[in-house]
Amino acid sequence: MSDETCIFCKIVQKEIPSKIIFENEDNMAFLDINPISEGHAIVIPKKHYNTLEDLPDDELSKLFQVVKKIAMLLHEKLNIDGYNVVQNNFKAAGQEINHSHVHIIPRTFGDMKIRLSLPKTSATNEELDRVLSKLKS
Ligand code: 5GP
Ligand code: ZN
Repeated sequence: MSDETCIFCKIVQKEIPSKIIFENEDNMAFLDINPISEGHAIVIPKKHYNTLEDLPDDELSKLFQVVKKIAMLLHEKLNIDGYNVVQNNFKAAGQEINHSHVHIIPRTFGDMKIRLSLPKTSATNEELDRVLSKLKS
């Protein structure tokens, strides 16, 4: 399961170079070529799946075990205070590479790297109930 037009599949096949942090039979973790912060890592399944929705549960489980391992490695080895785990799905959410992947983005206090200023709104009880009933119908 590989897509010949996919950059991440090419990274898996070692057709293009990458700075590999870790790999095993199923997964690979490498440094993002345009890091948001030092140590910005990408973790992928070796098989090509477009989005989260295409990943079988067992693959997902293995993927996130590696995400945790790499997150802990970054935390231990780099002088960081935390990290964001980001996973974009579909173009509208900013997914550029259609090979499902997880970003681990190291953070330090006051780094101003990414400001997760989530544009919060308020919702009435009725609005929350309306969306809940859509989800449950
Ligand atoms: P997305 O927006 O799809 O969630 O993120 C794709 C990420 O892949 C971007 O952060 C981008 O910098 C990274 N990326 C794109 N092409 C390459 C590449 O050839 N090598 C590496 N290491 N990272 C890449
Ligand atoms: Zn791919």
